Amino acid sequence: MMRLPEFTYLAPVSVKDAVKLMADHEPAAMFVAGGTDLYPNMKRRQFEPSVLIGLRGIRDMSGVRGSSKTGLIIGAGTSLTAVSSHPDVTGHYAGLATAAGLVSSPQLRNMGTLGGNVCVDTRCNYYNQSYEWRKAVNFCMKKDGDICLVAPGSSRCWAVSSSDTAPMLWSLGAQVRLAGPRGERLIPVSAFYQDDGIQYLSKQPGEVVTDIVLPPSDGWRSVYLKLRRRGSFDFPVLGVAVALRMDGEIVRDGKIVLGAVASQPREAVAAAALLAGQRLTPALIAAVAAAASRPSKPLDNTDFTHPYRKKMTRVFVTRALRRLAGFPDSPRAEEEIA
Ligand SMILES: Cc1cc2nc3c(=O)[nH]c(=O)nc-3n(C[C@H](O)[C@H](O)[C@H](O)COP(=O)(O)OP(=O)(O)OC[C@H]3O[C@@H](n4cnc5c(N)ncnc54)[C@H](O)[C@@H]3O)c2cc1C
Ligand code: SF4
Repeated sequence: MMRLPEFTYLAPVSVKDAVKLMADHEPAAMFVAGGTDLYPNMKRRQFEPSVLIGLRGIRDMSGVRGSSKTGLIIGAGTSLTAVSSHPDVTGHYAGLATAAGLVSSPQLRNMGTLGGNVCVDTRCNYYNQSYEWRKAVNFCMKKDGDICLVAPGSSRCWAVSSSDTAPMLWSLGAQVRLAGPRGERLIPVSAFYQDDGIQYLSKQPGEVVTDIVLPPSDGWRSVYLKLRRRGSFDFPVLGVAVALRMDGEIVRDGKIVLGAVASQPREAVAAAALLAGQRLTPALIAAVAAAASRPSKPLDNTDFTHPYRKKMTRVFVTRALRRLAGFPDSPRAEEEIA
């Protein structure tokens, strides 16, 4: 059985105190929210903080404010269960409700938070292993080692962005509010992630995520589809987030963002551009799905083979667009692609 190492737990009740405690204890400290990712990682010695700053006692960081007309502000400490079942989210940001509701298992969604999900560590078959396993293969540069075991000639880590909500929030144009020693700042989700398996967030270590801010829903509709081995619970090995703003049958604007195909969510900009001003026909959907699979470049470091995950990008984008168009799911069309 893997055990947690010893650590000191601090429990601030305000954002200001959390930031101050982090400034006092950095770099030995980490924030913890639900702990559903951090505690298992600590058991495997992927992280070895001697101090944890718990965020669960900060009331201001929990709950949903605003409305779909003015935009929603979701506290980073809001549980994934609460996000996935909130009427404004299910009614107006349906893709986000789906993405939050597909994270791990019901128990973990009760504990796990939206803030923890957007900050969740990147994953790799050579890294998400016990200390002894990693030691037996001489470790890798993400923790305790020097080289990348997936791409030994590479100077960077290619661990995979594995958050379900990140690509969906990106596609919806959401922003992340951060509080740190220098005050607050609000940045787009698209600027919150970096293409590096180790430094995958642009957030400074002393900054805490306080809120996720969603723009007014303003005619946008959204869908999230997830590929994983087990339907009951598993990290995504492909996530497809699509958001469209429709004017009758014409697409006014669209965003397609892929999860779990790189170290950060990847926006399929050229594919989405094909949608603007067009009617969603099967031929257009096929062209957009083909274009969307181009920026999908999974590596051989998670579940399923990477060529299969790339092929499934096209299938899942087709399926997502068909759903938004109100077409029935068409296994035959998908089989032809696959
Ligand atoms: C069996 C299993 C299956 C899982 N399946 C999935 C899955 O399918 N999809 C998925 O996306 N995740 C999955 N997870 C990971 C995890 O459960 C979720 O990502 C969850 O949302 C993490 O939230 P948390 O509050 O528990 O984060 P924590 O574990 O508390 O923290 C995660 C990271 O975020 C940081 N952090 C947390 N909150 C903040 C904040 N407010 N500001 C700054 N930093 C912060 C922590 O320091 C830590 O680095 C799974 C985990 C397990 C154990
Ligand atoms: S991609 Fe390479 S460096 Fe990164 S976790 Fe995997 S093996 Fe380690």
